[in-house]
Amino acid sequence: MDTKSNKYYLTTAIPYVNAPPHIGHALEFVQADTIAKYHALKGQEVFLTTGVDENSIKCVQAAAKQNITTKALCDANSNSFREFVKSIGMHYDAFVRSSQDEAHWNGVEKLWNMCMDSDDIYKKTYSGLYCTGCEAFYTQKDLVNGLCPEHLTKPDVVKEENYFFRLSKYSGRIREMIDSGSLVILPKERKNEIIGQIDEGLEDFSISRSNERAKGWGIAVPKDESQKIYVWFDALSIYLTSIGFGSNEQKFKSLWPADMHIIGKGIIRFHAIYWPAMLMSAGLEMPKHIIVHGYVTSKGQKISKSLGNVVDPMAMIDKYEVNAVRYYLLRGIPTFEDGDFSENDLIAANNTELVANIGNFIHRTMTFAYKNYKGELKSKNAIDKNDMEIISRINLLIDEFDADMSNFKIGRGLNRVLEVSSIGNKYFQDNKPWELINADRDGCEKVLFVCIGICKALSVLLYPYLPDAAEQLAKSLNTNIELLQGAKILPQGEVHINEPKQLFKKIEDAKAI
Ligand SMILES: [Zn+2]
Repeated sequence: MDTKSNKYYLTTAIPYVNAPPHIGHALEFVQADTIAKYHALKGQEVFLTTGVDENSIKCVQAAAKQNITTKALCDANSNSFREFVKSIGMHYDAFVRSSQDEAHWNGVEKLWNMCMDSDDIYKKTYSGLYCTGCEAFYTQKDLVNGLCPEHLTKPDVVKEENYFFRLSKYSGRIREMIDSGSLVILPKERKNEIIGQIDEGLEDFSISRSNERAKGWGIAVPKDESQKIYVWFDALSIYLTSIGFGSNEQKFKSLWPADMHIIGKGIIRFHAIYWPAMLMSAGLEMPKHIIVHGYVTSKGQKISKSLGNVVDPMAMIDKYEVNAVRYYLLRGIPTFEDGDFSENDLIAANNTELVANIGNFIHRTMTFAYKNYKGELKSKNAIDKNDMEIISRINLLIDEFDADMSNFKIGRGLNRVLEVSSIGNKYFQDNKPWELINADRDGCEKVLFVCIGICKALSVLLYPYLPDAAEQLAKSLNTNIELLQGAKILPQGEVHINEPKQLFKKIEDAKAI
């Protein structure tokens, strides 16, 4: 059996750990988790890699500022990332710490040697403008008023002998691959941006730095102790080393290439140009998709400490619970564009949609069925034309959800879930089971049977977005989370449900700022 065709390997970006997680990480983690869980619903073997990028000058500098060792800083910050990932509910299969994971070091050296063997690495003296925040060299024309476009800080002038990677050699092949769509970059604007950068001409880039500048921190260049491997060459390799490259070739072969890398728009050049070139040089297969999300802004501005508009995602989870935070990030922030984070919008989305629409439908159906039929329901009465129409509308929405999610349209997929729930609410309201129970007990049972079918569909559709709530609902329905095809409603059968629990809670306005 070809197991490879049924795997789905995806990665988050590998964040720096010079500072604790911010709301942008929260967005990326829930997006990645949602995509991963959708593919699990498709019956695929999913593997999700995340980790932390610790071998950077930033970490060395941040540690020096706090008067602690670089390792102590990385230990503390990587722990807070790991805790955070858990709190936001992202399930991962590998969490790599680039400074501590021995298998990673071996894999990075292996990749370096493969590129060396392809004659793509050479040494030269170089002078350039370096932004430590980006860990990247810039040319004068990249800068905005002489400042780094990402950090708005003045880059350092750095002159030293480095190893370089022959990026220029691969520009034609990379362009062709992106243009033809064999490597998909979404959204289209980001793809065009990269094509534009390639057309401006690609220069070879530095992939090492002196020990002196790296302060001795990082992975040594093979056979040259005077140099450390450049942080991006090292960090990108996590996508390979986390699945066995250089340590477990069988595992690596079963999972590579990556089906998806999800990243923020600030690091697209590294992923869509440098990374494919490195892989080509090493003779490795290309990733299939690069999904680029926007920035989370606050009060309409880029989040920064100096502007005083930082949103602490941990505090948000403590204050509002993870369901509300995940729901809002996936619903209120567009999948591919910048979106403004607002606590008031979070509360509104929770109260008017999650609680008043989805939660209300599930709660009224489940409690009514449990109370009046002791949780045992059959479709004794023939399903009429109206019911069949409702059932086929829901089943069609499940197909549309599938199409949206397979194209990474996470927010649109969530719209379908809301539509399913709205149909359920209207059907419940129109059929008035609270009156029907006295007039026509079997007819009422049939209505509830359809409603429970819709609840079951919701347990599956909600799973990628709100896994805990979906699992709790499935438990009340006396079932497990089914595969997506199993979400479709059947017109006949019987169900046994357990005593339901309330899934979502209204946020009282007093909690808002
Ligand atoms: Zn920068």
